[in-house]
Amino acid sequence: VRHLVLVLGDQLDLDSAAFEGFDPARDRVLMIEAEGESTAVWSHRARTVLFLSAMRHFAEALRQRGWPVDYRRLGEGADRDLCALLAARLERDRPARLVLVEPGEWRLEQGVRAACERLGVALDLRDDLHFMISRAGFAEWAKKYRQPRMEFFYRMMRERHGVLMEGGEPAGGRWNFDAENRSGFGRKGPGLVPPPLRFEPDAITRAVIAEVDARFADHPGSTAAFDWPVSREQALAALADFVEHRLELFGHHQDAMWTGQPWLWHARISAAMNLKLISPREVIAAAVNAWRERGLPLQSVEGFVRQVIGWREFIRGMYWLDMPGLREANHYGHRRALPRWYWSGDTQMACMRAVVGQTMKHGYAHHIQRLMVTGQFALLAEIEPQQVEDWYLAVYVDAVEWVELPNVAGMTLYANGGRFTSKPYVASGAYIQRMSNYCDGCRYSPSVRSGDAACPVTVLYWHFLDRHEADFAANPRTALMAKNLAKLSPDERAAIRTRAAQMLAGLDAL
Ligand code: SF4
Repeated sequence: VRHLVLVLGDQLDLDSAAFEGFDPARDRVLMIEAEGESTAVWSHRARTVLFLSAMRHFAEALRQRGWPVDYRRLGEGADRDLCALLAARLERDRPARLVLVEPGEWRLEQGVRAACERLGVALDLRDDLHFMISRAGFAEWAKKYRQPRMEFFYRMMRERHGVLMEGGEPAGGRWNFDAENRSGFGRKGPGLVPPPLRFEPDAITRAVIAEVDARFADHPGSTAAFDWPVSREQALAALADFVEHRLELFGHHQDAMWTGQPWLWHARISAAMNLKLISPREVIAAAVNAWRERGLPLQSVEGFVRQVIGWREFIRGMYWLDMPGLREANHYGHRRALPRWYWSGDTQMACMRAVVGQTMKHGYAHHIQRLMVTGQFALLAEIEPQQVEDWYLAVYVDAVEWVELPNVAGMTLYANGGRFTSKPYVASGAYIQRMSNYCDGCRYSPSVRSGDAACPVTVLYWHFLDRHEADFAANPRTALMAKNLAKLSPDERAAIRTRAAQMLAGLDAL
């Protein structure tokens, strides 16, 4: 073997840089299903199914090209760890070179480097051209800023790639329509939402589901509702379905939530993108075309484009800039254990029940559910960041560490002390009440701070402000929250502390 080309489970791109110069007569593709990838964090079964099914479909597509693929399935041989399995292949095949695109995980990149070094195999690690800025390019941009901010990065990317630009100016005269993208549904609810395209499991996926259910029977989550796109064709169909039917209203309601409605106007393509089945360039082109040709509202198209070319690329750049320290970050020194109901949804809090429940069913929640429901509760409840990070990596079908860790540690938990966000994202139960109907079906009441009906989100929010009052008062973005806290009487503040202490001592029972 001349080149052994390793394709990881989140690198399923037929145009991958790893295949440049591939010679089927002398080179071979290596794909490895490693049990360790599902057990290192206790992965949701649907997440494991998605990765394995997409890998098997991808291997099929390579074989159809007539390329030799060495495919290691679950259960073959004794090793379970990806790097150990790779090392065994390197020893057996003794390739002149191992070729791969940079992985989406710092630890794995270290492991691959170490294996190659130990065995004296040259490593050809190539830039991931899926992304619209390289790791080096991002580091160069970030050098200019003491505190890198997504908004400036986003503007630079729009200009550099000519996305939603008109004569050198942002389309519509503004960079950002975020202020118009925060509508709830009021009392009437979301009305009829066009249901997203579902992908019935085919024979390959059904076989994977049976295997995962047997092998990882004790893992969280269900595979019963599995309907994610697992091939490039399906991913393109999912993108077209979103742009045709839901993009129009996506922007307006992107932060809103409703019981029993996990999808609303969201795209459902993040998993396909993070597996690299579709590229950000084609996703952006589809959205921008819909604005130009079908006159879809700029507010929706810009809000969507910002997530893809702005936030997603920014977060990936920050991950590589800040690893490995980001994984250890714990700004507030939080040490509590993750409540057990994060794995089941079995809690009296209706908001958590809804979001954790749909997460266990589908492996999915949208960004505000992740940020402002499960995420901010973990912050207010003083959960150790590493436990929260493991949970997010385990339960979401689109979770790969480069995207999960900076979002959770940096954005959601403020564990890196605001390295790229201007404030901790915290709000009382009133926010959840405004953005959803969850409180209607809850045994707690969002406006109550004491007694049996006190909403845990609200109590722990005020407790959090109370603990960090000086920091909140000193930050112009949060000073108003500190002012509101200062209006409470000493008795009210004492009552909040007492109730919060009770709640924090019994998080599992909430
Ligand atoms: Fe969540 Fe509090 Fe509303 Fe219940 S009352 S759904 S706990 S915010």
